[in-house]
Amino acid sequence: MNPATYLTRAARLYPSNPAIFSGTTQITDYAGFADRAARLGQGFSEKYGIGSGDRVALFISNCPEYLDLLYGVWFAGGVVVPINHKLHPREVAWILNNSDASLVIAEGQQADTLQTTGSCPVLDVSSDAYRDLASASPLSDPVPRASDDLAWLFYTSGTTGRPKGVMISCGNLQAMILSYFTDVDAARTEDTSLYAAPMSHGAGLYNFIYVLRGARHVVPTSGGFDPAEIIGLAGHHGNICMFAAPTMIRRLVSQAREQGYDGTGLRTIVYGGGPMYLADIQDAVEHLGSRFVQIYGQGESPMSITALSRDLVCDRSHPNWAARLASVGTAQSCAEVRIAGPDGDTLPAGEIGEILVRGPQVMLGYWQNDKANAEALQDGWLWTGDMGTMDADGFVTLRDRSKDVIISGGSNIYPREVEEALIAHPNVAEACVVGQTDPEWGEIVIAYVVCEKGTALTASELDAFCLDQIARFKRPKTYHFVNELPKNAYGKVLKTALREREGVTHT
Ligand code: AMP
Repeated sequence: MNPATYLTRAARLYPSNPAIFSGTTQITDYAGFADRAARLGQGFSEKYGIGSGDRVALFISNCPEYLDLLYGVWFAGGVVVPINHKLHPREVAWILNNSDASLVIAEGQQADTLQTTGSCPVLDVSSDAYRDLASASPLSDPVPRASDDLAWLFYTSGTTGRPKGVMISCGNLQAMILSYFTDVDAARTEDTSLYAAPMSHGAGLYNFIYVLRGARHVVPTSGGFDPAEIIGLAGHHGNICMFAAPTMIRRLVSQAREQGYDGTGLRTIVYGGGPMYLADIQDAVEHLGSRFVQIYGQGESPMSITALSRDLVCDRSHPNWAARLASVGTAQSCAEVRIAGPDGDTLPAGEIGEILVRGPQVMLGYWQNDKANAEALQDGWLWTGDMGTMDADGFVTLRDRSKDVIISGGSNIYPREVEEALIAHPNVAEACVVGQTDPEWGEIVIAYVVCEKGTALTASELDAFCLDQIARFKRPKTYHFVNELPKNAYGKVLKTALREREGVTHT
């Protein structure tokens, strides 16, 4: 089914429900939203020849038009290629060429720069040409698409090597959506979906849940994550549901503490995308209440590998509550999940191996990349590249990306465990641990630490703190105190950059 059908249905059921907001200002209702998408769909096909399976790249920051554009491309039968607007034009040109895009939508200066690369036609979302397109006569129905047809071609962030195009089909999206309603949050019409994380990444995929319910979509006027603005929008709209990376939650909690805010107006905060440290989630629940659900997914199986429910995030009575809270939860309804050794055999409960997933939400494969497909997809299972364990009750705990594991004196050290120990110190704001080549040990542990504002720490203080919590051989041998950690365009810490600094090159 074409994903644009979700919108045409919602527009019939809830024509006058408010649909899209810029901050507190309503831009359109559901009838208007569907009409705008149908006109864009017609414009794309008439002016740019976009038809079934053609790729249209969106290289814009979060804005209300993002939603019109997504559905406009799908209306015409096209495939969305979302591109993070922070990427360098050279990186964008590479993605446009690799995906053989028929059109790229960009804005202002970035649109001008892309024109000069000549990769494909460029449409500036702030131009008259765009306004003309949006006033074409509307397509009556979305172009039919089958379950295996491509809908979303998402490029991995490429922290090592070239990004790979992850092919997500209409059927993959459907499985992801149904699982979300079942395992993450039973979204309702009175909810408000807030886009504070990049819509070119996972946050863009949340729209379906709320379109299906005829609920509100709010793009903050800041275009990003501003904790004070979010608290204001929560007061204005109420029932806010949003995705937030763990670092965003830390910032939100610290703002809440400053303002004496208790979470009123926030309904669901879905977190994931990177490790959430135990101390941080406990702090978040204490300050903001029972509003958190965790998901574990990746571009290759979006939002849909495991989930830790709202109740489990708040539970403090089960004998294993702390271990469960430190886990990423249990398999979502559409996913089979197992932990495998290098030969692909399933490992017993509690043993560390690679996390494998199978199900209707797993990508069709990587775009024109047989080598990567052969590595990642074997016998129908997706090898996630994440190392973890599963306990006897089915809870999966992530250790690290397989390439991030440090091998010191023949023992595996999982950086996450050391980072958990460091972050538990009240003066530590962020911590990241990587390996450095060492003639005696093979690798030794190096820590990068960002202190909380206005505080300081010494290596010996942190050494004593670690010795209290983890085995001696796991503790960092060197500490670098830095102002910030290097992060990619999605806010993920670039361990590769830190390793390169330490003279270690893992691929
Ligand atoms: P991406 O494909 O960019 O969304 O990145 C996916 C990766 O982020 C996964 O393979 C994990 O390494 C990490 N990740 C996603 N969700 C979680 C989570 N809940 N906890 C820890 N790491 C996560």
